[in-house]
Amino acid sequence: MLKSSIGLEIHTELKTSSKMFCSCRNDPDEKKANINVCPICMGHPGTLPSANKEAIKKVVKTGLALNCEINRTSKFDRKNYFYPDLPKGYQISQYDQPFCKAGYLEIPASKGFKEMHLKTIRITRIHLEEDTGRLMHPEKADYSLVDYNRAGIPLMELVTEPDLESGLEVRRFAEEFQLIMRYLSVSDADMEKGQMRVEVNISMGARKKLGTKVEIKNLNSFKSAEKAVDYEIKRQSEILKKKGKVIHETRGWNDQKGETFSQREKEQAHGYRYFPEPDLPPVSLDAQVIDSIKAEIPELPAGKRKRFKKEYSLDAKTIEIFIDNRDLGEYFEKVVSEADIDSKEPSKRSSAGKGKIHSVAKLAANYIITDLVGLGTFSEKDCKIDPENFAEFVVLINNGKITSKTAKQILAEMHRTGTDPSNIIKEKGLSQISDQKEISNVIMTVLENQSKAVEDYRKGNKNVLQFLAGQVMAATKGRANPEIVQRLLKDILEK
Ligand SMILES: [Zn+2]
Repeated sequence: MLKSSIGLEIHTELKTSSKMFCSCRNDPDEKKANINVCPICMGHPGTLPSANKEAIKKVVKTGLALNCEINRTSKFDRKNYFYPDLPKGYQISQYDQPFCKAGYLEIPASKGFKEMHLKTIRITRIHLEEDTGRLMHPEKADYSLVDYNRAGIPLMELVTEPDLESGLEVRRFAEEFQLIMRYLSVSDADMEKGQMRVEVNISMGARKKLGTKVEIKNLNSFKSAEKAVDYEIKRQSEILKKKGKVIHETRGWNDQKGETFSQREKEQAHGYRYFPEPDLPPVSLDAQVIDSIKAEIPELPAGKRKRFKKEYSLDAKTIEIFIDNRDLGEYFEKVVSEADIDSKEPSKRSSAGKGKIHSVAKLAANYIITDLVGLGTFSEKDCKIDPENFAEFVVLINNGKITSKTAKQILAEMHRTGTDPSNIIKEKGLSQISDQKEISNVIMTVLENQSKAVEDYRKGNKNVLQFLAGQVMAATKGRANPEIVQRLLKDILEK
């Protein structure tokens, strides 16, 4: 049985204020070509590069977040090749002493996040280099243009061991890596903008004896990475089934056709004539520096998933929404912590306390994800409802003070004005009616006007009950407690 072994190379543009070896701005949104350039990043003779500390810190931070060993001494090397988007004729990169090595990342191996079976993907290394410029080929022109704004931007490269086995796993790894980059504020890692570029290498073979490696480039979305890998596994398997030979090459991905195509045969490392960069001294990192970078790492997605499940018992889908939208997740946590204080009744604190937090948390999550987000794109800065008021609102629902129908009305009003829910309830008379006598009176009035329905019910048409309940709810403008309405209505009709 043939097994697929897939390794990844992920290039990520780092979010720094200046370029890697000069003080030019690192501005991915610059529209005008060749604005952020200087003699250093253009490789003019006599200029000297100096390494960007912020970029080094970001690579080390990434390495620590991905369980890597950090090399105490690293150095930069020159990778020599000629291409028009490379102004110096070489790229400053790292060859044998990268900043980080031997790490790992765990990804969900099974379909769906429900059964969280994790698979460990080993990370070989993470190193730092500089990006190239960008070539443009105007249509029907017999020339090409080049923009060097991107040349010299700090670029981080992560290389994995060939531990992945399917397109789905590749997508999962890339998605989790992107999340981590964003949590660490290392990069925005937007694939469509080329801030994160995924390359895969695939070989088919029996365990321990890997076949010929094929690389795929130009994958600019998670979906295309997944599809390209699955296509390539099939293509190579078919070649091998027919006793053919897989060629060692680089292939591109055609998204429209949904297939890979041959680009060029693969360059060997010695083709790049690597040698230590003579203009940059080696970089030493002492334990203190590494510890201070470690201290800046926030809670990462994996830890947050576990904590959200344990503390709030939310389902996996809800948790994933809060993981992806950190702002929303933080707002949710503030609401729950406020609600916790509000809803604590001293007698229930020890015994039923936990269950109560869970039910409040679930209500809060539902109202935040569906109703609050439904009212417009959420950002805590612009949201008029502060967490304290939202908490009060959720506790009112949880304690049966307002019905779910009026809840929507109240929330919309809170969203518009920022007023606290009890004021809105008071002003608009929206509190839930649970008083049996009051509800009975309404029911009697409704029944007097619905004699036909009452007759039908008594003749055995039990479906009429829902209709009558609806009439009672309408008469109270949705404020009556629906359970009490049902119970009393039945009692009165069957008397
Ligand atoms: Zn420059």
